[in-house]
Amino acid sequence: MDIKALIQKAVEYGQQALSEHDSKKVLASYNIPVTKEALVQTKDEAAQNAAEIGFPVVLKACSHEVMHKSEGGLVAVSLNSQEDVKAAFSDITKKAGPDIDGILVQEMVSGQRELMLGLLRDPQFGPCVMAGFGGIMTEVINDTCFRMAPIDNIEADDMLDELRAKAMLEAFRGQKPADRKAISDTLVALGKIGMENDPIAEIDINPMIIDSNGAVIAVDALIVLKGGQINDNNN
Ligand code: ADP
Ligand code: MG
Repeated sequence: MDIKALIQKAVEYGQQALSEHDSKKVLASYNIPVTKEALVQTKDEAAQNAAEIGFPVVLKACSHEVMHKSEGGLVAVSLNSQEDVKAAFSDITKKAGPDIDGILVQEMVSGQRELMLGLLRDPQFGPCVMAGFGGIMTEVINDTCFRMAPIDNIEADDMLDELRAKAMLEAFRGQKPADRKAISDTLVALGKIGMENDPIAEIDINPMIIDSNGAVIAVDALIVLKGGQINDNNN
């Protein structure tokens, strides 16, 4: 299904948001790097897809109604075997109840740095692109930066330079420098999504993990639709 149709259908169904999996489809269509993942319905399918993706994997409940998955115990990370995957599948399906699209089996990205990138539609300024550090950094300092969309790569690069913790984008604890071009491309793409998709009120990529080689990949994504409740918790 093309992306416009996917968004339109969600609007028609009165959804407040897109699920993580659907949100990532939108991001991927704008060339934002996202996790390799599969949406499955059974334990055996989960185990099989985990083996195909490669261990370790992460399992999550997938639903447009669940905005904060880890709060409900609906995320299981570091699953190293098909047995682990089957156990996590049972546990998450039990906690999530019947109203989910299925379970996401997803590659586990390992890295010590997390970014929080997004888009907000401001009533006065229109779509604005946001960049900041995620994880512990978010809680310790308010280190985010905004620009009105659309933005180009030069503006996106300026945004990264404005972050107080920008040194974390350099080589860090034995990990390679972050791929700044890929982060900048992601910010430009977020602005473009906002400009081109009126029904989208907000996008949260939280986190985009910087792996030990410096590559970036969106491991969680949430697209909130207009009329949907604005996400107040950035985790
Ligand atoms: P929530 O809806 O609670 O924000 P997330 O999908 O962001 O759920 O998962 C919670 C945390 O688990 C993330 O902040 C991240 O630290 C970790 N995590 C989730 N998915 C992955 C993944 N694919 N690889 C590595 N870590 C992950
Ligand atoms: Mg998250």
